[in-house]
Amino acid sequence: MRCSARVLSLIPSQCSSRSHPHYKPPRRNRPAGFSSVASRSPPREAAMGESGTVIISLNEWQSWGTNTPVPAMVTEIVEELKALEKDTEAPVRFGGLGGKLKGDFKVVEDKKHRAKYETLSDSEEKLRFFSARQVACRLLGSSGYLCQKCWLPEGDCMCSRIKPCLLWPGIRFWLYMHPKDFLRQNNTGKLLWQLFGKEAATLCIYGIAEQEEMMWNSFKLSGRSKVWCLYPNKNAPIKSVKDTFPSDSSNDHEFVPVVRNGDEVMNFILIDGTWSNSAAMFRRLKERAESVWGEELSCISLTTGASTMHRLRPQPSWDRTCTAAAAIGLLTELQLLPQYRSCGLDKSADAMDEGLESLLEALTTRRLRMGRSIRRTPKHKNDIC
Ligand SMILES: [Zn+2]
Repeated sequence: MRCSARVLSLIPSQCSSRSHPHYKPPRRNRPAGFSSVASRSPPREAAMGESGTVIISLNEWQSWGTNTPVPAMVTEIVEELKALEKDTEAPVRFGGLGGKLKGDFKVVEDKKHRAKYETLSDSEEKLRFFSARQVACRLLGSSGYLCQKCWLPEGDCMCSRIKPCLLWPGIRFWLYMHPKDFLRQNNTGKLLWQLFGKEAATLCIYGIAEQEEMMWNSFKLSGRSKVWCLYPNKNAPIKSVKDTFPSDSSNDHEFVPVVRNGDEVMNFILIDGTWSNSAAMFRRLKERAESVWGEELSCISLTTGASTMHRLRPQPSWDRTCTAAAAIGLLTELQLLPQYRSCGLDKSADAMDEGLESLLEALTTRRLRMGRSIRRTPKHKNDIC
């Protein structure tokens, strides 16, 4: 893995708030980093269709990196936002990272969505409403503004620097993403499907029923023994990559293991959210695993990746890493095992590393171009959406 100190020195300012939950315990006051860039962007009006309606077509939805139909509740909320706009005669305006409502419309919508939330007694319904509303707002706010592939403003698009590559078909990543991370410019999970494609790295947004069903249907087909979550489960003994995939002389070979059908694919779930959100996300996965299999979800903790990061990280507060770096860590640790050493995982890790470097450069360039500091600043208090 080519993991330059320069890249890593930039990771914390990008990713300390986007940290992968594998590495260190929670820290309450997380710095804003680049996330504050967009939160100060000027408000934008939602893209409208010819008839004055907002359209989220299947093609547009899937172009953002997903591979499911448009979620029903997202469509419903988009329709509600449109109707509300008509009633209030206040235009839907967005600012920030494609998701924060602004102005008079926000005031009216705030009351409405809070009232709706209160009517939902079931926590599952509340989560689904919360997630769908987050996604709907982000879609409306980002349409025509962000590049659909790299989630950066069109003028900062970094897609030309991404070199897609094949991931060994025995591995499939699942980006289990918090809705507040969907369409975030500094999200690093999106790099996985940009590089490896949506089949090899699939997005599943927390609380979006259609996507969670797709993911679990796939897990059911693979079976519990082929699904792992990169997460430090405190209630179970810590298992490293080496513990999870023991090698012996019989599989110390030089040929690439054959993947005959989907049953043999190893599924790795990467929780793509802040530390504070990740506990609830993991709990949801864990509960689902128990209801599906009657057994715990298997977890993996990275070892070498974390220590390498730690060694290169110049500041003690930079003690965690981002989703893309967690993927690099996993691929690198698997590459060290005899049974996977001919799968080209080192090349995939290198491609990831280069992609991460390109993303960080694009974000830094944008920030400097806009006359903003590249140093971390205190985080603004987030309001819903
Ligand atoms: Zn782009």
